[in-house]
Amino acid sequence: MKPFCLVVALSVVAGACSPSSTESTPVAAASSPAAAPQSPRWGLVIHAGAGNFTLADLGERREPMRDALTAALMAGHEVLKRGGSSLDAVQAAIVILEDSPYFNAGKGAVFNHDGKNELDSSIMDGATKRAGAVAGLRHIKNPVRLARLVMEKSPHVMMVGEGAEAFAKEHGVTFVPESYFYTERSWQALQRALEEEKKAAQKASGTAQLQVARAGAYFGTVGAVALDQKGNLAAATSTGGMTNKRFGRVGDSPIIGAGTYANNESCGISSTGHGEYFIRYSVAHDICARVQYKSDSVQGAADAVVQGELKTAGGEGGIIGMDHAGTVAISFNTTGMSRGYVGEDGKPVVMFTTEDAGPIGTR
Ligand code: ASP
Repeated sequence: MKPFCLVVALSVVAGACSPSSTESTPVAAASSPAAAPQSPRWGLVIHAGAGNFTLADLGERREPMRDALTAALMAGHEVLKRGGSSLDAVQAAIVILEDSPYFNAGKGAVFNHDGKNELDSSIMDGATKRAGAVAGLRHIKNPVRLARLVMEKSPHVMMVGEGAEAFAKEHGVTFVPESYFYTERSWQALQRALEEEKKAAQKASGTAQLQVARAGAYFGTVGAVALDQKGNLAAATSTGGMTNKRFGRVGDSPIIGAGTYANNESCGISSTGHGEYFIRYSVAHDICARVQYKSDSVQGAADAVVQGELKTAGGEGGIIGMDHAGTVAISFNTTGMSRGYVGEDGKPVVMFTTEDAGPIGTR
């Protein structure tokens, strides 16, 4: 399967990737590639999960998914357009995706091995390096809102399980019954994973379960990165984790530096994929560190990690990112990653796989 990366300049076209695996297109008419960036171009980039899927695999879900991704982009764009913060923009985009049944976050969260949903999320402010994260939530409608509250209303960065939900109660967060997270698709995905796991049981080693959970998976985690008019970056990620995960398992999405990272001196990143690898390779922070300390482009850094060491290690997935000049980077080593971006022109672009990586603005 061909790896894929994309660089879009909301300010300047970088054109960092090799032609076999990339696309390089300006969202806004900008200065020539050689010119220095002028004032940062604000904008938003989102993902809704990576996996080895084709457009055909998405079937009739594709258009409602496109609608939800477009709505998420436009919600974030509205915030940015009126001068709102990148934190508000990424939160607005993610709440829409969490409320949709089509993604593995909020409403559409996948089931763990015990048939329960455990939700994780994180958010980071690139201006202050403050961050908030939550994991193992069972009753919170919009985990990203709670992550934001942990960042802003607690002295902590990360809260989990019952403690996080008790904190949520104190802050008037919306609770839902566990049944709210039931979707037939996620339930059937668990049944298939359990079946495969049973079949594989004789040969099973300690790692067999997550491999089963991963097989053919459409990950579906959601994430967003934005740059606002003041030049501040923010990133956020929200997930139900991986189908058939063990009770209590936490992936990369709520881990600052793995699933989410934002730093005005470098970039903002949101990851999606096989979380254990993203944690071990500190993917989001590694990309930003390369930008900050090696002066790599955000796309170059993302490719070095996602198409390089992560892929070599067997870590499937991808990232979306944006640097402090508004340059968007997208890189994934699977066949698909649902994704989209919008710049100052307010024209949303949504794509799903390597197949529809055509010119910007085409469907
Ligand atoms: N990274 C998430 C996790 O491992 C899953 C995903 O991105 O789909 O929990």
